[in-house]
Amino acid sequence: MNFQTSAVVQRLKVRFALACVAAIAALIPTAARAKEAGACTAGTTMGLSAPESSQGSLLLIDLKGSKPFAEVRGEWGGRSVPLWSEKADESRRKGLLGVDLEKAPGEYELKVTGETASGEKMICSVIVTVRKGQFATEKLQVGKQFVEPSPEQIKRADEERQKLRDIFDRVTPERLWDGRFRIPLDGVTTGSNFGKRRILNGNPGSPHGGADLPGAAGTPVHSAQRGRVVLAEELFFAGNTVVVDHGLGIYTFYGHLSEIDAKVGDLVEAGTVLGKVGATGRVTGPHLHWGLTVERARVNPMLLVRLLGGASEP
Ligand SMILES: [Zn+2]
Repeated sequence: MNFQTSAVVQRLKVRFALACVAAIAALIPTAARAKEAGACTAGTTMGLSAPESSQGSLLLIDLKGSKPFAEVRGEWGGRSVPLWSEKADESRRKGLLGVDLEKAPGEYELKVTGETASGEKMICSVIVTVRKGQFATEKLQVGKQFVEPSPEQIKRADEERQKLRDIFDRVTPERLWDGRFRIPLDGVTTGSNFGKRRILNGNPGSPHGGADLPGAAGTPVHSAQRGRVVLAEELFFAGNTVVVDHGLGIYTFYGHLSEIDAKVGDLVEAGTVLGKVGATGRVTGPHLHWGLTVERARVNPMLLVRLLGGASEP
């Protein structure tokens, strides 16, 4: 949560094999299909936003069919993949593949299956190879009282972690966002410290799961997009916090607020003020801790704006 030390973030490449080969599902036995990673059945193509990625990154999926789809499902690494249609174009689906910050490097099959409106089965498969991300580390020697919270504080932090986990595990089946995602602070274009690991007195802590955005205390914090407020309270580490559910398993997190201007259940629009920048929780100075989870994967939120956003300002 410390944004004062600038992070040197170097992304390691993740290569993935992608080749959409037309094939007719009915004629290919399942075993053979599994080997043909990257294949889509006839008339469907699947593209990914970038040929390179890494732990903590986000890929945009673009699925195009020759006919309207009745239903499409995606799965990757044991989690479902958010897929949606835009502008009532039912022959097309967009999707987001979130690679968790600590996902074990390896090869994972992205499988998209569905059915066209006329009942034809559709299947696409791509192997996405996750490579290790390389994030900054910061070694600190500090007094014991700063490293070891009291048993009460540990208990509280554990309960809050579980509460957040339960929230992020829930998938609202409809897409609540509509339009471009924005950076929550006006005029801010960069975030820092994503993935950074602090080593306190030789003990590595958890990696920093969000981006720290610079802002003076009192600066309005805007919702990145439309969604429902699912948490608005003070947390041990993150201080005054708001979490917004954008639907399809996509959540944004706003921490260290000086004040909270939203309540649980509120339906907020893109740009609605959720609170103000502050320094509540375990921080050294005012800034916004902005987090993003996609199907429980902790992902760099700046990538969401890059893929589904554009400018931070309208
Ligand atoms: Zn932070």
